[in-house]
Amino acid sequence: MSQDRAYQMCINPDCAATFSLTDVVFSCPKCGSLLDVRYEWERLAVPAKLDFFEHRWATKGLGAEGRLDFSGVWRFRELLPFAPAESVVTIGEGRTVLERNDRVGREIGMKPGGLYLQYEGLNPSGSFKDNGMTAAFTLARVLGRQRVACASTGNTSASVAMFAHKTDPEMQGIVFIGTGKIAYGKLSQALDYGALTLQVEGDFDACMRRVKEVADRLGIYLMNSMNPFRLEGQKAIMYRILEARGWEVPDWVIVPGGNLGNSSAFGKAFAELHALGLVPRIPRLAIINATGANTLYTLYEKQGVRWNGGRMTNAEKVGQLYDKFDQSGYKPHTIASAIEISRPVNLPKCLRALEVMNGVVREVSDEVILEHKAMVGRYGFGCEPASAASVAGLHVLRDEGVIGPSEQVVCILTGHELKDPDATVKYHTGVDMKSITPPAPRPTYGKYANNPIPVADNLAAICAALGEPAIEG
Ligand SMILES: *Cc1c(COP(=O)(O)O)cnc(C)c1O
Ligand SMILES: [Zn+2]
Repeated sequence: MSQDRAYQMCINPDCAATFSLTDVVFSCPKCGSLLDVRYEWERLAVPAKLDFFEHRWATKGLGAEGRLDFSGVWRFRELLPFAPAESVVTIGEGRTVLERNDRVGREIGMKPGGLYLQYEGLNPSGSFKDNGMTAAFTLARVLGRQRVACASTGNTSASVAMFAHKTDPEMQGIVFIGTGKIAYGKLSQALDYGALTLQVEGDFDACMRRVKEVADRLGIYLMNSMNPFRLEGQKAIMYRILEARGWEVPDWVIVPGGNLGNSSAFGKAFAELHALGLVPRIPRLAIINATGANTLYTLYEKQGVRWNGGRMTNAEKVGQLYDKFDQSGYKPHTIASAIEISRPVNLPKCLRALEVMNGVVREVSDEVILEHKAMVGRYGFGCEPASAASVAGLHVLRDEGVIGPSEQVVCILTGHELKDPDATVKYHTGVDMKSITPPAPRPTYGKYANNPIPVADNLAAICAALGEPAIEG
């Protein structure tokens, strides 16, 4: 890998300022836009065909670069060549699976063989964030930083905390959490992995402001998703989908949208693959918001905001919407806490991805999210609420006829079932089980609700509950 052939560049085409990889700037000092990691591809060794990467399965663990072949991100290192091999920080991220799931497909109107689920919950810390964190930690090591920080109530902090203690004993992970809602699966990880956890008296926005200040002033490296290196790692989710499909491009990729880092990374992955002649076509992208946090849906589908080659159409609508949020004291609200975000950091990059991938945006209610989460749990490996927005969004797009029943669709399941067990138990029982002793009959709701059956401590009652005749004796 030749890091002298990689650099950073402002995404605004009228500015296009460039910076070296080791300039620590997260927005362009000239115009304020986000930055991309760019490569001089013509001076780099890029494989002529994607099936080149398959041989890495045979060399994982072997030789000097074998530890990279073990990673579902660095196995594709020629496509994110910004760091020397010896600097790479990897903990076995990205060893995830793509599953053809006809049972879920049938529930939502897909023909057999049409629906694929990409289980990013199978990452070491249980969410797709590990794909990006391996890349950002690699840059932290290149920069020689010993402290890294993020603001998050969720999976970003879990991932930062895990990578920090795995990187080297000197590396310290710092997590800013606010007073808002926290899924205990995620908070427990940050605490357990030993991150220095600061509980700020304020909401997520306050945490974000503070972590940026601290990063600027104290030289702590920032791990939130305006860090462009994270998105380089997240491109690998698309490479793995292609690999699992024998390099056949699907018709659609569907992903939940929060801060919009993932969708931005997917667009960059396909723009690059197409420009390099490695894929014959680009799939379409669908990004799914929760109704209670639907900024992207509002701007893209209702107000016609577009990337337009970098000269944004209706750009003023963004500021107008945010002003309205300020005036009304609006706060996003959804059970899908990982996408409970009203001012998505990566909005411009995401609009670019929607242009590259001819995308659409939809919104789904919490109730619909929970139904589809239960469906993925019943017929698949399960996922957390935000992840199920992708399957729920596909259902909407099937009903609308935007996606046909025989198209090839990949839904990204971004986080593990166990991240938020409270949401799951509540769905199945209608109540918080922790508050019930002994179990009592409770109202259930939802098509897949699986309520525990209260039963007396005697054999006849248990037989009756199992639908069996009572056992004699
Ligand atoms: C972070 C996260 C998201 C949102 O991803 P963005 O890149 O911020 O849009 C969705 N689902 C889960 C489980 C997440 O952790
Ligand atoms: Zn600029």
